[in-house]
Amino acid sequence: MKIYPWHSVKATDRPVYHDDTACTEGNNIESYYKRQGTGGRRKCEHCQRLG
Ligand SMILES: [Zn+2]
Repeated sequence: MKIYPWHSVKATDRPVYHDDTACTEGNNIESYYKRQGTGGRRKCEHCQRLG
């Protein structure tokens, strides 16, 4: 399911944003590092495929 974009500010995570609740990588982001918006990053390829 597509929702508003979010991304991780964790240094070791990939610099991408997610916008699909079915994305495993996006779901694995710890809430401490989770931020709303794209963060000026490119879209996660898993989320692209899910779209
Ligand atoms: Zn994703």
